[in-house]
Amino acid sequence: MPPINRQLVVYDFDWSMADQDTDRWVFEVNAPNIRRWMEETETAGSMQFTDMIAKALRDAHAQGVTRQQLEDALRVMPFHPAMVRAIINLKATGSTTFFCLSNANSVYISVILKEKGLDMMFTEIVTNPAHWDPSGLLVVRRRVDPEGPQHSCKIGCSANMCKGDELEAFFTRHLPMYDRVVYVGDGSNDFCPALRLRTQDLLLCRSFGGLHKRIAKEGGLQCEVKYWTGAWEVEEIFQTLANA
Ligand SMILES: [Mg+2]
Ligand SMILES: [Zn+2]
Repeated sequence: MPPINRQLVVYDFDWSMADQDTDRWVFEVNAPNIRRWMEETETAGSMQFTDMIAKALRDAHAQGVTRQQLEDALRVMPFHPAMVRAIINLKATGSTTFFCLSNANSVYISVILKEKGLDMMFTEIVTNPAHWDPSGLLVVRRRVDPEGPQHSCKIGCSANMCKGDELEAFFTRHLPMYDRVVYVGDGSNDFCPALRLRTQDLLLCRSFGGLHKRIAKEGGLQCEVKYWTGAWEVEEIFQTLANA
């Protein structure tokens, strides 16, 4: 095998880096009635996911949920200490770049990464843009503006973002190409970027969730796949990648 001089680790956020789903958790903590509405809306398939989250945040704001309450919920959201160690220790070996690619939003991710001391570890975070407006409302928008040109993904990415296209755009921004790409994911929307990985790349697929199901049903991956359940297993695998 050729030497690995440049390695990239790509992290999905919810249920991959974090041990929960930010979009659902903040409402489970602060507004279970809205969490129930989200469940029903998702089942009905009547709204694009990012638009649904934006509306849920407006509704929560209207019923008095504050910025402080949302940030507090994010800070206590389950996040395994072994995942924090895994990232810090691999980063310290020097030749690995970290990239976060998520369908959550920029505010949720930055609050949690700061809380965990990981905010300096990531070269880029590509996700849905978000900001607090002066009234304390968290405004979330799709990464791909619904008014502009849309992505052309046929693998099933939601309208807000094609994660496969975003992964390839990252490669183009950071040439030359990495010797090895390690992708940590769990969800069905991680299947599209996983299809773009090469034979020398590695997919760390969480053993529960939509990604595992799609791999079993649709196949077609070129990369090696390792399955994991707990963050301690990712930490172990990262130790074997540390001499990159
Ligand atoms: Mg996920
Ligand atoms: Zn896609």
